[in-house]
Amino acid sequence: MTYKEALDKGIVILESERIADAKIDAWLLLSFVSEMTKAQYFLKQTEQIDQLTLYKYQDVLCKRAQHIPLQHITGEQDFMGLSFWVNEHVLIPRQDTETLVEEALKVIPSGSHVLDLCTGSGCVIISLVALGQGLSGIGVDISEEALTIARENGKRLVGAKVVFEKGDLWQPVTGKFNAIVSNPPYIRTADVEELEEEVKDHEPRLALDGTEDGLFFYREITAHAREYLNEGGWLLVEIGYDQGQDVSALFEEAGFKDVEVVKDLPGNDRVVKGHI
Ligand code: GLN
Repeated sequence: MTYKEALDKGIVILESERIADAKIDAWLLLSFVSEMTKAQYFLKQTEQIDQLTLYKYQDVLCKRAQHIPLQHITGEQDFMGLSFWVNEHVLIPRQDTETLVEEALKVIPSGSHVLDLCTGSGCVIISLVALGQGLSGIGVDISEEALTIARENGKRLVGAKVVFEKGDLWQPVTGKFNAIVSNPPYIRTADVEELEEEVKDHEPRLALDGTEDGLFFYREITAHAREYLNEGGWLLVEIGYDQGQDVSALFEEAGFKDVEVVKDLPGNDRVVKGHI
């Protein structure tokens, strides 16, 4: 079998199992097992695929056909141009969350110390520190399994500039910061069941379930953020598409100024920001 035949067969298999992006996923899996770039594939597509690569390809195709997320098979997801390791203990970094990082990069002064609550894979604080000027940070998460992944990502991408602490929201946090960021769980408990199967069945509920009204974490965060912010410090959070009003009201109740709701690329409300 040639590489091209293997790729075409992979597409047919994934399409027959109703994988939405069958063409892209079949290619990404072939590229993952063969370590080929697109350019190398075009040169080699009519050559015979070696037996070991073919076995590996069949194995990963079979997993994807069972709707295991692609990122759990390859173990990685790109975010802000960086490659993050992921597994079933962390939310797979979403493109929507890049809006949070982009907004934070606009307002956080160089040399700032930044806190990230509910850090998960660490993608928000690590990409901020990697892309900002002279930034350092702390990521906090309640899940030890998530912290293992976050620490590996941090060490590989930003070295010692980000440290990770285990704890429930503010509990392990000491000192003051120039900015606090968070992408907390914000899906209403009843809506978790309505999520796509690949999300619902494979990503951690702990990272998704924002309690009955989806706002628990925003209440906790806005109620205490001032105690941990330097004068003029910023708070930026990711929100669900329908939470802009509720979350900006919480910011205002807590005395934040210039409170603003920012939209993501598809045009949904995605970030609330404000400063003290
Ligand atoms: N945006 C994620 C989703 O829709 C949820 C992220 C979160 O709860 N922080 O799956």
